[in-house]
Amino acid sequence: MFGDRPDDGPVAVTRSASGTDVDFGVLTRQLLSALRSRGGSIRLGHEVTGLERTDGTWHVGVRDRETRVAYRLRAPYVFVGAGGGTLPLLQRAGVPEVRRYGAFPISGQFLRTARADLVAAHRGKVYGHAAPGAPSISVPHLDHRTVDGREHLFFGPFAAFSPRFLRSGRRTDLLRSVRSGNLPVLAASARDNRSLMAYLLRQVAQTSRGRLDALRTFVPDVRADDWELVTAGQRVQILKMSGGQGAMVGFGTEVVTSAAGSLGALLGASPGASTAAATMVDVLAASFPGRMAQWAPRLHEIAPSVASGERPDAAALLARARAARRVLGLDPAHDDRRKDLA
Ligand SMILES: Cc1cc2nc3c(=O)[nH]c(=O)nc-3n(C[C@H](O)[C@H](O)[C@H](O)COP(=O)(O)OP(=O)(O)OC[C@H]3O[C@@H](n4cnc5c(N)ncnc54)[C@H](O)[C@@H]3O)c2cc1C
Repeated sequence: MFGDRPDDGPVAVTRSASGTDVDFGVLTRQLLSALRSRGGSIRLGHEVTGLERTDGTWHVGVRDRETRVAYRLRAPYVFVGAGGGTLPLLQRAGVPEVRRYGAFPISGQFLRTARADLVAAHRGKVYGHAAPGAPSISVPHLDHRTVDGREHLFFGPFAAFSPRFLRSGRRTDLLRSVRSGNLPVLAASARDNRSLMAYLLRQVAQTSRGRLDALRTFVPDVRADDWELVTAGQRVQILKMSGGQGAMVGFGTEVVTSAAGSLGALLGASPGASTAAATMVDVLAASFPGRMAQWAPRLHEIAPSVASGERPDAAALLARARAARRVLGLDPAHDDRRKDLA
């Protein structure tokens, strides 16, 4: 980053040596295999086609995508964690709590390189500042990432537009999500988020040269041939009225419960992978308020600060971070050292 950088002014950097990369795909597979080994049943490649509540029971329509066989399941409690698929599913089920929510999909693209010397030279994650009007999730960053054992550098995100709610969703997803109940929210969100709209239009209109220029602020000696543009996924931003204004739920996943807590759902695709554990404690508390006291000791054991809602002081936080690093097998020599380099 600094090798060929022209000496044209001071640069301020804060460094934390204790960061790490988490491959949430691997983590998810490990959690699912732990669940399976304890007798849980996991059906991959199955699509939930409908949800209906009759006689105090949820009836879940399911289809095996491979065999196309459809069947129904009954359940006293349902948790919907379908990313961009959650809102359409709850709308079809007529869940009243989501009537006033709108959704707007933004797809995320990154520039990626596998050039060995670049990857070897940059073993960190460097975050800049969000552009004016940009949502906080759009902070540009240059990341070293290891996915399935392969090392790459990623730079982004660049916002692009696709009307789909899932990567494999339908082009009509956005249109079909518009109902009379959420039309005012969509209109108010467009009216009250002009700088965000301007940012999105600028991003969508950005040329490959513009993207390389953005990368150049991080890597001054960029060669266009080394980098390719990849689509990383769809973020479905949830829109709601807040203080009389149309607002985008940026950070903070929207937890929705319905039918006396017999349905819990996570709306949208907030920056949730790293907040998943804390969010699930919120889901438990919202769905099973009567059982939280009984579960408290075990939850406290698993996630002390999250479960108790306490705000630990600096010393307690340091001790927790050290304990987490031990559990994760990370180098203790890098414990929480922060250096101001400039
Ligand atoms: C470009 C990009 C970069 C990101 N970077 C980060 C990051 O660095 N750190 C971080 O913490 N988070 C990051 N996130 C956010 C993170 O990926 C999401 O918050 C997280 O994946 C949400 O998890 P989820 O399980 O709620 O939904 P998802 O991961 O979207 O999973 C939902 C699943 O449900 C399935 N599904 C949908 N509808 C149905 C249906 N009807 N029946 C059956 N299955 C269905 C989908 O196929 C999907 O597999 C990023 C997101 C994007 C798009």
